[in-house]
Amino acid sequence: MGQMNRRTVRDLRRGNRSTLLRQLYFQGPVSRQELGTLTGLSSGSVSNVVGELLADGLVEEAGSVESDGGRPRTLLRVAPGSGQLIGVDVGETHVRVELFDLTLTELARWEHPLTPGGLEREPEPVVGHILTGLDAVVAKSGAEPGKVVGVGVGVPGVVEQGDEALVHGPTAGRDAVPLERLLRTGTELPLFIDNGATAQGQAEMWFGAGRGADNAVIALIGSGVGAAIVTAGMPYRGATSSAGEWGHTVVQVGGRACRCGAVGCLEAYVGAQAVLDRYGRRAGGVYGGAEEDAAAAGAAAGAAAGVGACLGAGEDQQAAFAAIVGAAGTEAWAREVLEETAAYLGAGIADLINLFNPERIILGGWAGLLLGGRMLPRIRAATAAYALHRPYAQTEIGLAELGPDAVALGAATLPLAHFLATGRAR
Ligand SMILES: [Zn+2]
Repeated sequence: MGQMNRRTVRDLRRGNRSTLLRQLYFQGPVSRQELGTLTGLSSGSVSNVVGELLADGLVEEAGSVESDGGRPRTLLRVAPGSGQLIGVDVGETHVRVELFDLTLTELARWEHPLTPGGLEREPEPVVGHILTGLDAVVAKSGAEPGKVVGVGVGVPGVVEQGDEALVHGPTAGRDAVPLERLLRTGTELPLFIDNGATAQGQAEMWFGAGRGADNAVIALIGSGVGAAIVTAGMPYRGATSSAGEWGHTVVQVGGRACRCGAVGCLEAYVGAQAVLDRYGRRAGGVYGGAEEDAAAAGAAAGAAAGVGACLGAGEDQQAAFAAIVGAAGTEAWAREVLEETAAYLGAGIADLINLFNPERIILGGWAGLLLGGRMLPRIRAATAAYALHRPYAQTEIGLAELGPDAVALGAATLPLAHFLATGRAR
């Protein structure tokens, strides 16, 4: 009984510490009085816990404001330099490692190119790059390793959180990658591994287009297509964390082959590579390979030549995709392919609205931002045509705000969430 009481008191103190830290983080700078109002905690509790947080160096004073007739009130905030967060973006085409202070100001970055699918086919070299990157950003920023709260790693594919995090890639027939165990051979820093879309979604909810919403879907389009689903303020993961594989929902029975082994998946129509393939087929089919005609296509659009030169990945893929989007104003093939893409995307977004009844759909990812920047009215119109009328009317569809490269930032919110939940408990 006595032990139970002690545990309860300790849990309560830890809970208060986390509650106040979250308010200081997201609402700061705030005064002790405001903290009391925001949390409903007594002034005594606020005083005690804030005193602890100040003593631990996690919180600092940030000026003061006049109060009505009384003494000036001291403002408090989370001390940005009291810890560091590392975010790792294991993309299809690169490993990027970024080190941030606690308020997510970037202090150092490191990057290495990858061949697509590398994490699934040959995980060891990818793990080697991540570990090199971790050392590099810590050295570059001058951070003390002891002050690094943790390393968040965002990966493509499904991350199963069990005794250790396993990564199941999207390609059919590959075994799970024991990424956590592999990384553990080279670092003692706390590791938080999650799907890159889920991590990026958390960043948009906390700092970007999702602020203030409790129910949202962050729909991300790059080489792959995924979604982060947030219901009642929490990520929706499903039984074994594979929820949100929106890219592998079917939009065309008997349709185009997808790398997951099925056919007709949304990703096979709106993923960046799928758009390039559909464009290449259309332009190629029309011009039939004749040299002067191919040259004419390139001259007409500035797109076909770029696309033909690089049906590969990485920067080439992004450049070719941007060229098609740029050519849509003047070139019929580009316009047709993008309008078709907007229609498939609308069908996919309508599914999200009908299934999850979100307040907001946030379209992001590098290709999603390019498509949305040009085609958002068309995408909305296509969505309206496929979604149930009432929930569609109650859903805002907008663009992500944290830019096309927010996976590393999103990954850094994984250790940040741990920090805010535990308050680095004593
Ligand atoms: Zn698929």
